[in-house]
Amino acid sequence: TRQFFVGGNFKLNPTSREAKRELVNILNKATLNPQTEVVIAPPALYLIPVLELLRKDIKVAAQNSHTKNSGAFTGEISPVQLVDAGIPYVILGHSERRTLFGETSVIVAQKTRAALDAGLRVILCVGETLAEREAGSTQKVVEEQLRAVVTLLSPGDWSRIVIAYEPVWAIGTGKVATAAQAQEVHADTRKYLTSAVSPEVAESTRIIYGGSVTAANSKELATQPDVDGFLVGGASLKPEFVDIINATA
Ligand code: 13P
Repeated sequence: TRQFFVGGNFKLNPTSREAKRELVNILNKATLNPQTEVVIAPPALYLIPVLELLRKDIKVAAQNSHTKNSGAFTGEISPVQLVDAGIPYVILGHSERRTLFGETSVIVAQKTRAALDAGLRVILCVGETLAEREAGSTQKVVEEQLRAVVTLLSPGDWSRIVIAYEPVWAIGTGKVATAAQAQEVHADTRKYLTSAVSPEVAESTRIIYGGSVTAANSKELATQPDVDGFLVGGASLKPEFVDIINATA
């Protein structure tokens, strides 16, 4: 049985320490389903204060980390530094990193390897564009993105990976995937893991959905057998994030 997982990706929000404190306060006051693993990913500058302010049953994730642990890499954050700061998770391969910051699947795989080596857990994002979906190549794209990572991992590494299926056309658009669309990709991805890694890894790896998840659409998505949780962007900055965390309740 896979523990339900809900992540909040704050992206480059909010823009003040006070607003960050308010977001933490909402979560600190909320009644949360204790069966669900909850992780929030604030901007890097806020990771340590959030870790200090936040209730201890919610975990904290970075939104990115470098392939190297130290050296002449101006502007980067290293996996070893995150572990040293007490941050357990990192989001890697988000579509915004891939498209706006030029991260290839090979770079994402190298970052994943480095993060695991440092002791981090990884929320690994994959997903197709609208053009790729319309061309019928959704699964091919997702598998290509995953294959680069599969190549650099051993079966034992997968217990520290959560796969986030985030179709690019659904991110920040209000166009959520239907429950059937999400279930199809998640099931196909699990099938891919069966052959590319092992049946055990396929069965135990969480595959979560991201892209315009709201309190209103989360309940139906959560009923799908291969949807093991969510990665939430915009709605993670609102009180409704609590209802998404509790979607299975
Ligand atoms: P939205 O929930 O704002 O569509 O963003 C999803 C996302 O990119 C989470 O990583």
